[in-house]
Amino acid sequence: MESKMKIGISTCLLGKKVRYDGGHAYNPWIAEALGKFVDFVPVCPEHECGMSIPREALRLVGDIEAPRLITINSKIDYTDRMQAFSKRKIQELESQQLCGFLFKSKSPSSGMERVKVYPPGGGLFQKKGVGIFAREVMNAFPLLPFEEEGRLNDPSLRASFSVRIFVMHRFIKLTSQTPKASALVDFHTKHKLLIMAHSPDAYRSLGKMVAEIREQTLPGFLSSYTEQVMKAVKHPATRARHQNVLQHILGYFKKDLTAFEKAEMLEIIERYRTGQLPLIVPITLLNHYIRKYDKPYLAQQYYLNPYPLELM
Ligand code: SF4
Repeated sequence: MESKMKIGISTCLLGKKVRYDGGHAYNPWIAEALGKFVDFVPVCPEHECGMSIPREALRLVGDIEAPRLITINSKIDYTDRMQAFSKRKIQELESQQLCGFLFKSKSPSSGMERVKVYPPGGGLFQKKGVGIFAREVMNAFPLLPFEEEGRLNDPSLRASFSVRIFVMHRFIKLTSQTPKASALVDFHTKHKLLIMAHSPDAYRSLGKMVAEIREQTLPGFLSSYTEQVMKAVKHPATRARHQNVLQHILGYFKKDLTAFEKAEMLEIIERYRTGQLPLIVPITLLNHYIRKYDKPYLAQQYYLNPYPLELM
């Protein structure tokens, strides 16, 4: 059986009662939908670094870029303990080959952005901080897809995270044994249209890069290629970019479709662009034509099948 990808996650998002108040922050989409396709690697930095459940709540205090992690009433500073724990945990996570990490929003330990930071002498907070553990993880694994549970309610952010973790998983599978140049060319070929939908610039530059690939230069090439692909798919795939890719795909059916079918397809793409139809509608129809007219190049494109339908 094919192994599932591993995703790091703030433990409370899985429904474990590890929060400061003894509660949890269960997220049904993460646990029930995503959970079918991934193995979670849960981390509760506060509990795992030795704090009790329940415990006094903490907050970030001081410099936005380097705040301290301090209990609200008793003013105990847990920063050094949390940083030491983070370094140990990151060493452990390095062997896990994670494909992404899902953080609990707003937490002074686990929040990945917009966490409240209070001035040392009291007063108004600024929502510009990053949780102490989350900051260490994001610094240690700069190419990993990261997301917070709240942002996954936005369909486009959820789609973006899903796309990126599946690309990362395919990278890990590709590089699990030293790949040959031909395997990398094959990988790139299957991701071409997906990259085009996220970044037309990266589509062009990566195409040139892969055209020059040689067996001898492969190790150095791989890390640079991985970095560029992961950065490319982080760009939002806008409706206009999807429209370009969909019309590009339609071009492969010049000799197959009737004038009526082409006009219908163009109308569906336009209705997708203006927000009247979801992306799945043109994609489903194009997939139908790909099967009907036997287009092997298109059939292998991850753009048309970036992640399991259940996650859409
Ligand atoms: S937000 Fe982080 S530290 Fe807080 S309970 Fe959840 S996993 Fe633990």
